[in-house]
Amino acid sequence: VRGAPGLNTAARPGLPLSPRKTPPVPLWNRLLLWLLPLLPRAFVRWVAGPYIAGETRAEAVETVAALNRDGAVATVDVLGEDATVPAHIDSAVAEYRALVDAIVAEGLKATVSVKLTQLGLRLDRGECERALESIVGHAATACEGGVFVTIDMEDHTVTEATLAIYAAVRAKYANVGPVLQAYLFRTPGDIDRIVSTPVTVRLCKGIYVEPADVAWKDTEAIRESYRAALEKLLRLGANVGIATHDEQLLAWVLPFLARVRTARDRYEFQMLLGVTPGLRQMLLRRGEQVRVYVPYGRDWYAYSLRRLRENPAIAGHVTRQFFARFIG
Ligand SMILES: Cc1cc2nc3c(=O)[nH]c(=O)nc-3n(C[C@H](O)[C@H](O)[C@H](O)COP(=O)(O)OP(=O)(O)OC[C@H]3O[C@@H](n4cnc5c(N)ncnc54)[C@H](O)[C@@H]3O)c2cc1C
Repeated sequence: VRGAPGLNTAARPGLPLSPRKTPPVPLWNRLLLWLLPLLPRAFVRWVAGPYIAGETRAEAVETVAALNRDGAVATVDVLGEDATVPAHIDSAVAEYRALVDAIVAEGLKATVSVKLTQLGLRLDRGECERALESIVGHAATACEGGVFVTIDMEDHTVTEATLAIYAAVRAKYANVGPVLQAYLFRTPGDIDRIVSTPVTVRLCKGIYVEPADVAWKDTEAIRESYRAALEKLLRLGANVGIATHDEQLLAWVLPFLARVRTARDRYEFQMLLGVTPGLRQMLLRRGEQVRVYVPYGRDWYAYSLRRLRENPAIAGHVTRQFFARFIG
């Protein structure tokens, strides 16, 4: 991960990170989560506001510029998934290419993130690969060193195809990297595959609801798998974007990185826009590189539902926002 500042955690004041149990999700939260898809889209948009930069590229540029001023870097995602007609693929490619140009023109410290189903993975695999290559190729020559492109990982039915397309495009361009999901049983094997070529990979837990025969379900098992995957990736020479807001996991990661003396350009932390900004600030204050995932676009609905579903404090958050906006 280029430009990541280093870390000697042992020598720095500790984060207020202490292992603690994940509290059970209260009944009111569970009810609200269940109701979300039935609620008006305008309400979902309002509640999901903090997770999205806006609907336009200009709003994304503004958000990234503010993050850069704050000391964070970014990766920008054009919202959208599951292209159903070829025209969707063309407009996604055009928007990504324009986004890359905007990043370069504005001098932003940002990469881009892209979902392959948005580029037609379920429609036509060859077309999808050509579309990704068009974005990555454009990003490679947009500026010195190129703009890095991360391929988001979607549900397990497309993992194999996503990694195959990554490998094909990586064979031509160095400015592209995959995401691995710690909850998948297959991830240790996928690590062996991807490290055969120098790789910059994002490691996350995984967000999709997966069947029990392909993924860990238990919180602790997922954390354990995450720790093992991170250790393995670093040992085998990968650069890693450590994408998590889990304080309990970070309480292990920080001393681990110091213990194995991980070079400063081998890792960075990654967080989602609108999630745990306090934690982000703490990492920045410690001199860590933190990359914030900044989504924008008109297709905000599916992304917003996923973000809201994983927010354990959603009911309190909604109530607070409601009172702040309409009563406070
Ligand atoms: C930069 C980035 C990119 C990602 N890309 C992918 C991808 O390509 N594919 C994929 O499957 N998943 C992706 N994810 C999502 C990831 O897999 C997890 O679902 C998500 O990060 C929550 O897991 P966690 O490790 O933060 O731990 P959790 O235990 O889920 O969360 C830890 C704490 O973070 C806070 N938190 C987490 N989510 C929210 C939220 N939505 N709102 C408010 N607070 C919250 C809560 O305080 C929670 O207790 C990405 C995550 C990040 C940070």
